[in-house]
Amino acid sequence: MGGAAHVIAPAREGRGTRRRATGIPIRVKFMTDLHVYDTTLRDGAQQEGLNLSVADKLAIATHLDELGVGYIEGGWPGANPKDTEFFARAADELTLRNATLAAFGATRRAGGRAETDPLIRALVDSQAQVITLVAKSHTGHVERALRTTLAENLEMIRDTVSFLRGEGRRVFLDAEHFFDGYRTDRAYALEAIRVAAEAGAEVVALCDTNGGMLPNEVADVVHDVVGATGARVGIHCHNDTGCAVANSMAAVDAGATHVQGTINGYGERTGNADLLTVVANLQLKAGYPLLEPHRLQESTRISHAIAEVTNIPPYSRQPYVGSSAFAHKAGLHASAIKIDPDLYQHMDPKNVGNDMRMLVSDMAGRASIELKSRELGFDLDPSNEENSETLTRVLKAVKEKELGGYTFDAADASFELLLRHEIDGSLPDFFQVESWRVITDARGDDEALSESTVKLRAAGQRHVQTGEGNGPVNALDHALREALSVAYPEIAHLELIDYKVRILDAAHGTDAVTRVLIETSDGTTSWTTIGVAANILEASWDALVESVTYGLVRAGVDPR
Ligand SMILES: [Zn+2]
Repeated sequence: MGGAAHVIAPAREGRGTRRRATGIPIRVKFMTDLHVYDTTLRDGAQQEGLNLSVADKLAIATHLDELGVGYIEGGWPGANPKDTEFFARAADELTLRNATLAAFGATRRAGGRAETDPLIRALVDSQAQVITLVAKSHTGHVERALRTTLAENLEMIRDTVSFLRGEGRRVFLDAEHFFDGYRTDRAYALEAIRVAAEAGAEVVALCDTNGGMLPNEVADVVHDVVGATGARVGIHCHNDTGCAVANSMAAVDAGATHVQGTINGYGERTGNADLLTVVANLQLKAGYPLLEPHRLQESTRISHAIAEVTNIPPYSRQPYVGSSAFAHKAGLHASAIKIDPDLYQHMDPKNVGNDMRMLVSDMAGRASIELKSRELGFDLDPSNEENSETLTRVLKAVKEKELGGYTFDAADASFELLLRHEIDGSLPDFFQVESWRVITDARGDDEALSESTVKLRAAGQRHVQTGEGNGPVNALDHALREALSVAYPEIAHLELIDYKVRILDAAHGTDAVTRVLIETSDGTTSWTTIGVAANILEASWDALVESVTYGLVRAGVDPR
């Protein structure tokens, strides 16, 4: 951390901690709690390709509540039938222990009255205790998008906020395009905030709706708005400059006490501020006690659980919670990491429920193999001579395989099989493959179908099985698991969940080879295996065989 100017932040409302001269956050009396406001279900759901059913939304809301966010914005009841249904079902089915549900909507129509506006009625009917109203504060948007007068827009804000307050609801206001509006006409933008606050809006969130801001300007504007209006200010950022998280941090530093974002940064275009990163930064780096530590430790799990619901693969390089966030391709550094991981990591991954991971790469030395082995549960302390020899053998095997196109970075399961084999040759011989084949057949306009036959021996018997699939690997997978199902019913629930192919360039006078990575799930966890061959189906087959073998080892099954 920097010098004293950064270290001793002036105490201001909302700042829950200050720093010692060492830069280590200390907790001081909490003045105003900082709202953690999630809008995954509303703004996040705007992401291209993201479609949430009502059941999905309920499932995500439950995860968000477990994480401990203060507010969950559920959607726009009245404007969107699915969202109306969400609030109706949430009232019956959701028991929130930490979070308050918020309904999103717009200020009333120009020229009308809030109490007779059907969309405002739908907000009241949603039963949400918090209503977040989007409003215009940019003169250009009022005149050209809303096509009304500047005075009427202020009246729409005043009327809608006071009506909802009269209905006993807490009201937050999202000032859309605020930063651009402030640049265009500061006085009007500030007036919109004042009107909302005077009418009873508890928070006015300044929105960088098109995401074009940079942190220094966000800080200046937030500072000015807090000083000029006295309103409780919130921040809502989009990531179009890659600064959504930095902008949110800058706003909080300048006095915002309500921060909005989405899980995994979902949102249209380049997304919204990733709430998990914002919260981890604020709590672990800036010292704001936002979530109970045991809830923050659920971040990684919840990020991935929500990714399962949205069906968008988790981003491995996501800060804090990504699978690569604490992965070290160690090489030279491995021996030092072994002694003191803190030297190489910005924080303890346990704080967010993540883990340090060692990558076994072609730069691998004995130390990283030893670390990786320990991570997998094998103690190969090299002070023991036998272990030392094993390490040498494993290293040699890894390097040979990598020369042939293998990579163990992403194939932990294949590495573990190699390790078991090199340690004591104990890799169980579950089955012996006699042959396999696959054909793909296309007729007329019908979709091509693949059919495979696998012959193998297991449990003292010969098994011949065919399998069908929409592709050759799918067909091979079905036939292989069918053929094994009599001897090993344990593998019935294994499922191939991801398949990746890469053609490796021909180099050094060799032919091009194909590298296949297969991810398999047993319902609770997943593992990745690798196959490399000149023929894509052969590479796929090798990876499939390893995936099933690993599944059997994992399940603690003995060869039959
Ligand atoms: Zn937005």
